[in-house]
Amino acid sequence: ALTTGIVGLPNVGKSTLFNAITQAGAESANYPFCTIDPNVGVVDVPDERLHELAKIVNPQRIVPTSFQFVDIAGLVKGASKGEGLGNKFLAHIREVDAIIHVVRCFEDENITHVEGTIDPASDIETINLELILADLETVEKRLERLAKQKKSGDKEAIVEHEVLTMIQAVLAEGKTARSADLEEDQKRVIKNMNLLTLKNVLYAANVSEDDVANAEENPYVQQVRQIAEQEGAGVVTISAQVEAEIAELDGEERALFLSELGLASSGLDRLIAAAYHLLGLITYFTAGEKEVRAWTIREGTKAPQAAAVIHTDFERGFIRAEVTAYEDLISCGSQTAAKEKGLLRLEGKEYVVKDGDVMNFRFAV
Ligand code: GDP
Repeated sequence: ALTTGIVGLPNVGKSTLFNAITQAGAESANYPFCTIDPNVGVVDVPDERLHELAKIVNPQRIVPTSFQFVDIAGLVKGASKGEGLGNKFLAHIREVDAIIHVVRCFEDENITHVEGTIDPASDIETINLELILADLETVEKRLERLAKQKKSGDKEAIVEHEVLTMIQAVLAEGKTARSADLEEDQKRVIKNMNLLTLKNVLYAANVSEDDVANAEENPYVQQVRQIAEQEGAGVVTISAQVEAEIAELDGEERALFLSELGLASSGLDRLIAAAYHLLGLITYFTAGEKEVRAWTIREGTKAPQAAAVIHTDFERGFIRAEVTAYEDLISCGSQTAAKEKGLLRLEGKEYVVKDGDVMNFRFAV
């Protein structure tokens, strides 16, 4: 499953945020394994469209789609040199598909800041530097090996050597591999290396309860935004503490509490949506009497591979897909009406599934 790792310096609110995520009821009931590893949480992706589709189809149940969060605690200054449990944590980060970097933007004299003062720019730099140093080591080791293969005229080695030399130069300047602006085919050559600073990042600016309604006015948040803009990263403002409190409440109480704080929706919903987008994920639906269900695929996935998310047999025996765009189905009011208006399309193996497509797969076993 696709996974987002939560990183950040100690005492910035990672655990608070992670616990809020897993307790908010956002946690998926369908994944028992998340109770085995306390650092892994599987959350449902909130999607209004499921409820709109259910109004049309009247299914027995609604099943949202979900993805994983991992709390990767313990990243400190010197991690790339093996400080703390440095290397182990870096190895965990290597495995995730994208990163949520929690940055402390709240003041609280009772909670020690590891560096003494609240300084988002410096915190981000500290973490990024560890990741950059770790990547630099990985890249340099690989370059040494490639140099030998290059001599024997290995064409792939020559290309990879070229790309990694570019990245090495960027890293050596203290910048992330992301900022090297690689072309897609260059990225493909080095994909297996899982470079830490090539992963997409979403900054979660953790603000205090008092600031949550006007988070954008907080100068710390503005600092984070500025850095994110330069890096092409995303930002979500959130109060981990408020989210933890919200997580304890149920429906009506929750709505009341949110409106008292001047918030339209919980920060977690925004965070989950942003992380989903960050991972390059989109949703398609199946809508039958038994269930209306959301399924996750990567952007650009073709129909047979999208079908494989439901069952591998669907891919192997794929014949065609009946597709209605979500908006078309909703505006027609029923699947029959959509069909009569010619809005139900038959698509083949090369069809690239779009966000919101309502799919019915035809397959032979
Ligand atoms: P971690 O080390 O990054 O996992 O940080 P924790 O989640 O354990 O939080 C460290 C301390 O900061 C805890 O005592 C939290 O209750 C507190 N904390 C987290 N978020 C906030 C916040 O938004 N405001 C305030 N005042 N305290 C917070």
